[in-house]
Amino acid sequence: MQRRQEWAGKREAKAAAGFAAAHDLISAIPPGQPILVGHYSEKRHRRHLARFDSKLRGACESADMAKHHTSKAAGIADALDRSIFSDDHDALEQLRARIAEREAKAARFTLLRKATRKVAKDPAALLAALRAHDVTPEEMSNVHACLAAGQDPIPAYAAANVRGNIRRDRERLAELEKLAEQRAKVRATLAAEAEAAARPVCAECIEAAAGDLGSVDHEGEAPPRVAGPGEVCTSAYHGEE
Ligand SMILES: [Zn+2]
Repeated sequence: MQRRQEWAGKREAKAAAGFAAAHDLISAIPPGQPILVGHYSEKRHRRHLARFDSKLRGACESADMAKHHTSKAAGIADALDRSIFSDDHDALEQLRARIAEREAKAARFTLLRKATRKVAKDPAALLAALRAHDVTPEEMSNVHACLAAGQDPIPAYAAANVRGNIRRDRERLAELEKLAEQRAKVRATLAAEAEAAARPVCAECIEAAAGDLGSVDHEGEAPPRVAGPGEVCTSAYHGEE
């Protein structure tokens, strides 16, 4: 990301220099001056225009790349910021497990409610109906407590509450899954940058690629690292004219 910002800065400087050079070139020709065919100035005039054109295109390309690197750097910073608070896999697994657990609980409430609805007013019949559904001792003691307090042991809102919790868990899960996806993309970008950094390219090859319009800095590709002294150039075009 730091390097992205450096690349952006370099590209901006290059664009500014290119625009300045293009301006210098064109200001040597009076505005609107036609090419005088056959005149001694024709060749020079045409050469001037061609150089102006190529300078301008180079500068535009540099400006585009500066923008590209700036927005990439911002994107990486953003994604890292957003993904810091919820690392992971573990959180996803825990949430999925909790959702499954709560779904089983909601289904159990619904089943017991259905089984006891008709005998809700008759405690003895209610307890018998619950026993038929393998109610655990813990569940049974809750039921007894509710009955003693004159409360409905399996109220309709019990399942509704659990389902509300499930809905919130699902929303959180979707957020976490999105974050995990973003993290994976950031990791891939950083890996691609690290890979590009591991492939040094000599200054001549970088210069040649820069002169070759359209071939430099393909979208989404990290620029190559300039080879240091003693490093071998890894460009496939090294040594070519
Ligand atoms: Zn090379």
